Amino acid sequence: MSRMAQAIEDREVVLEVNNLVKHFPIRGGLLKRETGKVHAVEDVSFVVHRGETFAIVGESGCGKSTTGKCVLRLIEPTAGEVKLNGNDFLSLTGDALTRERRKMTLVFQDPYSSLNPRMTVADIIAEPADIAGIFATREERDAHIEKVMESVGLDLAFKNRYPHEFSGGQRQRIGIARAIVLEPELVVCDEPVSALDVSVQAKVINLLQRLQREMGLAYIFISHDLSVVKHISDTVMVMYLGHQMELASKEELFDNPLHPYTKALLDVIPRIRSERIQDKHVLQGDVPSPTHPPVGCVFHTRCPFATDRCASEVPASHEVKPGHFCACHLYDE
Ligand code: SF4
Repeated sequence: MSRMAQAIEDREVVLEVNNLVKHFPIRGGLLKRETGKVHAVEDVSFVVHRGETFAIVGESGCGKSTTGKCVLRLIEPTAGEVKLNGNDFLSLTGDALTRERRKMTLVFQDPYSSLNPRMTVADIIAEPADIAGIFATREERDAHIEKVMESVGLDLAFKNRYPHEFSGGQRQRIGIARAIVLEPELVVCDEPVSALDVSVQAKVINLLQRLQREMGLAYIFISHDLSVVKHISDTVMVMYLGHQMELASKEELFDNPLHPYTKALLDVIPRIRSERIQDKHVLQGDVPSPTHPPVGCVFHTRCPFATDRCASEVPASHEVKPGHFCACHLYDE
């Protein structure tokens, strides 16, 4: 058995995130003084294993993309800990940061706007490797780019074409090729198929799964689409207004959801609802503003089970069953 296969079988942890917090200051007036803050991510903790897909789900604005960007340090977290292969990633600077950053990459939601329209496909894919300066010769570079193009199913005849000449699915293949060119260990996929037609979505998902098997990649898969998440994930975290509501294996979360918010999310998806007991939970009202999140449980303004306690006390995340975490007073005892 190869080292990579052994690591996957042993469920080796690639990424560990502890108590991650991200607040964006709001500034106003002539002096641009801080007048408040957006509570984008509050106290989020999870681990991602080699060769597995960790999905983050929730409505728009729940903090899932911000969590992914904080992990990659595309934006700096306000507080918390991010460990890559057991080492503190947030304290790295200079060359050490550049080196470790190559182990984590991002696939964007919109494959068109994320590709430079003035660069050829080969140059777009090669760009991260060119910046890292890893190729000694032009021949070495060309051979590697061709290998990557083949691995994502791009015809080599397209090497010198430009992004506008491709369909949405092909453009996402280019984005994925760019993300894996440096052979990373973890890829953050931020809504990678939500801009694509359903038939193309399946092909891109299959591609991501094949690359995961071949390269032992770990994914953080960010999505609002629970049908896609059910197909691709191993572990799922549900977020609401920046908070971690529930975290469990895919099977446990879809078969036995505990948190009222998770149940409501699952119940609005017919394909999934029909597989569950019909105790329908319908979400009422809108998501509150992250600049003034509700006191206590942030979900209490929409929760059908809310009590007085929920409006004053923040529920801690408890391990209700082995590996199944839920932040709700209903499961405190
Ligand atoms: Fe609902 Fe209270 Fe649980 Fe929050 S803590 S999800 S308001 S029952």
